[in-house]
Amino acid sequence: MQKLTPQLFKDLLSKQSKIAFCFDYDGTLVELAKENIVHAALFPQSTAKLLNELVKKAPVAIITGRELKNLKALLDNQLDPAIHLYGTHGAEMGEDSDDNQYEEELNKIRAIFTEDPDIEFEQKRISITIHYLNHPQPQELLNKLRELAKNYSKIFRIQEGRDFFEFLPVNVNKGMAILDASRKYLDHYFLYFGDDLTDNFAFNEVNKLDGLSCQVSARIKDGQAGYLIDKVTDLHQLIACYLDQ
Ligand SMILES: [Mg+2]
Repeated sequence: MQKLTPQLFKDLLSKQSKIAFCFDYDGTLVELAKENIVHAALFPQSTAKLLNELVKKAPVAIITGRELKNLKALLDNQLDPAIHLYGTHGAEMGEDSDDNQYEEELNKIRAIFTEDPDIEFEQKRISITIHYLNHPQPQELLNKLRELAKNYSKIFRIQEGRDFFEFLPVNVNKGMAILDASRKYLDHYFLYFGDDLTDNFAFNEVNKLDGLSCQVSARIKDGQAGYLIDKVTDLHQLIACYLDQ
């Protein structure tokens, strides 16, 4: 993975006439929340301003594992509606999902862990995320989850994140959102920034499109991105750099 400096970023973009910017949310556009993961991670005004400037020059999309209504609550109407929002790893494309086909199974999975005080649940329409950031015995928990997942392998896959496990329908991943955006914006040079294992699907899709994939922070070790930046504020700097051109 090559370091993406502002100068290199400028050089790479200078060869392109049409550019589309895609971002993960947590740990990419905003700093990771340390606790109350589902509801923290509010969207700073300064970042809203930056993206609202950006969308005047290029298409912009945010692709998150959060449910769309949760993302919208965090964004708090600060963003230009021209910015595309994808929730639940791309399963929700602009509109909230009302798909309840997995409800029964998800409730069963949740029931198994409700007694554990060190888990924070993020229940969505079609998936459930089990956050274990502050869990005293994460390995035991992971083993239990992996064992459980075997029973559901036809319906759900386990998406491992840095500090969560998600039961997600087998075909859903962030690459879907990139594909959708790439159909909307043909002939664009796609950029994707993300910080977690869930973003590998989007990195791979962008790589196939000969776009620019960039991991934010070296925290995950087997990232599929071509480039690396150290932190959230470095991304803000790159966006500002593009806007200055
Ligand atoms: Mg993230």
